[in-house]
Formats: sequence, C-alpha cells, structure tokens
Amino acid sequence: MGLKANYLFAVFFLAILACSERKYEKYESNKEFSSWNKVQPIALVIHGGAGTIKREDMSPEREKAYREKLMESLNVGYAVLADGGKSVDAVIAAIKVMEDSPLFNAGKGAVFTHDGKNEMDAAIMEGSTRNAGAVAGISTVKNPITAAYEVMENSPHVFMVGKGAEQFAEEQNLELVDPNYFRTERRYEQLMKIIDSERQQLDHSSIREMELEDPFFKDRKFGTVGAVAVDAAGNVAAATSTGGMTNKRYGRVGDVPVIGAGTYADNATCAVSATGHGEYFIRNVVGHEIASIMRYGNKSLDEAANEVVMDQLVKMEGSGGVISIDAQGNISMPFNSAGMYRGYIREKGQAQTFVYNDEDEGL
Ligand code: ASP
Repeated sequence: MGLKANYLFAVFFLAILACSERKYEKYESNKEFSSWNKVQPIALVIHGGAGTIKREDMSPEREKAYREKLMESLNVGYAVLADGGKSVDAVIAAIKVMEDSPLFNAGKGAVFTHDGKNEMDAAIMEGSTRNAGAVAGISTVKNPITAAYEVMENSPHVFMVGKGAEQFAEEQNLELVDPNYFRTERRYEQLMKIIDSERQQLDHSSIREMELEDPFFKDRKFGTVGAVAVDAAGNVAAATSTGGMTNKRYGRVGDVPVIGAGTYADNATCAVSATGHGEYFIRNVVGHEIASIMRYGNKSLDEAANEVVMDQLVKMEGSGGVISIDAQGNISMPFNSAGMYRGYIREKGQAQTFVYNDEDEGL
C-alpha cells in the first residue's frame, strides 16, 4: 500500500472514531436526561389497627383524636422522606408517634395479657437488603420499634424475645421505662370485661350487649400500628408494633414480629404491614404471600393485597387488613373488618386519613 493509501485509511479511521464518540456522548446524556426525568416518588402509608370500628359507635371527639394522631404520624414520617431520608427512618419516626399515644395498641396504651401485663412485639424490615429485626414479649423498652431496629442494625440476629431482648435494648442505650408506663385504665377495663365474660361463659348476644354498652370494648382485640414507605432512592421499608391481643396467655406471640407474616419488605415487590387476628396472618404468611403473588403471579400490588386480605383471609374468617406500597409508590390498603385506622401522604400531597370502609381513598 502506498503512502497516500495509508494516509486515507488513517483519516477514515479517525472519522469513524469521532462519530462513535459523539454517538456515545449523546447516549450518555440521554441516559442522564431520562433518569433526571423519571422522578422517584416518595410516599408513606400508616395504620393504627383494624377492627369493629363503626361510625355509629364513634364519638366525634374520639374520631377527631384518632385522625389528628394519624395526621401527626404521617407528617413526622414524611418530613424524613422529604428531607432525603431513608424509608426505614421514616417508618420508625411515624411509628414512634403512635407508640407514644395511648390511643393505639402499641407502646403506651398496649393491651393487657391475661396476667395483667403489657407485653409488646415489634418488627422492622428494609427492602433493599431484606435486613430485618424483631422483638417479642418485651415490657420495659419505651419504643419497642427502636428495639427491633437495633436487632436489625447492631446484632447478627433477626428475632429476640423477652428478657434477652430487653437486656440487648439496654446495652444499646435505648430508653427504658417502668412497665407501669404502658398501663392505661381503659385497656385494663377491657381486660376485666373479657375475663368477666369468660367467667360467666357469656353467649354471643350477651357479649354483643356489652359491646353496645361500651363501644370501646369492641376495640378490645386489635389496634396495632404500622407504617410502610418508599424513599427517594426507591427503597421500601415496613415496620409494625403492637401489644398483641387482649387477654393473651402463655407467652402468645402474634404475626407482627414474624417476618413475612405481619411485616415484610422487598424492593422487588413490596413492603407490607398487617393488623388483625394474628394467628390467621401467620398461617397465611400474609406479607410474603402478597409479595409472592406479585413476583410469581405477575400481579399488581393492589391485586395481590386484595387477593390475600379479601379472599384468602376471608375464607378462613381471619379478620383484619394490611397497608402496602411498592417501589413505584403504588399504595394498597385493603381490610375485611368494619374499619381500619389508616392514612397516606405522597409527594406534593396532603396527608389523608381514613377510618371506615366507605371512605374514598382516592387511590
Ligand atoms: N395482629 C396483632 C396480633 O395478633 C393484633 C392487631 O393487629 O391488633 O398480635
């Protein structure tokens, strides 16, 4: 090949290189443009328990108190997300507000065991790593959800119970309180009434009469609190906290701290927090079941959550509901009981709260 041919070949080669470089630059800037363009939604959903919550039994003051506390919890949790914080921190912040309030069956205001104690369960899970932490049967940690978080973050374990969990919480410098801190008179009265009805071996209609006399007695079973969220990084998280069920005995533990049952999070599918008759939620592995229906059945979050709560659980008479969210910010909150204290807040949105089953959630 002559010198001229060599020269022409070199020019041709350089021209091709320059073209492909420009093409690559364009591709790169398009990529950035599209990822700037796609805004990752942030959102938080909470519940304050499901149960026989009916309009006719609720006083306006009581409803207002619940809605205000739910609103506060949503705003406190959302502030974490809006600040660029992690979903796991947002759900903790939201739960703490409800644990500190005597209105809910979690932290202060937890229901009583048959032996007149408050024994609490809590769990937390993050969807990016599927790390999880849970505690059960604890009576001295002011905010049980913080104990679950410490188990996840600062131990090689997932689940701790009773005295061991309390000792671990103390070693992590969590705030401890006298077990009496959790006591509320109304919850104690609920226990007394249930024990009384058991003693008298009351039939269904007499129990109904007691419920009519004292609507709060109806609330005797549930009242757990929960939160699920997605943050600006697209990571989901779930957290749940409870006193369990009134009159529980023999160290009974419900679904709340059972990862996959009452609490579950996986970025690939969803984050779920449940409330209801725990035994049924454990047997149906509710949180993981919803995720599995999405993953293997190729269903949307709403389809999967409804299938489990409104079909599988209903067939077994497992009363309750869930709140759930996916990484795209879709929300679903089905329940098969008369009511469920619940609410959500989304980017640029106002916090919204709901109590009954006939309210338009606007989802
Ligand atoms: N699921 C809880 C339990 O069985 C009770 C509730 O949700 O209120 O312990």
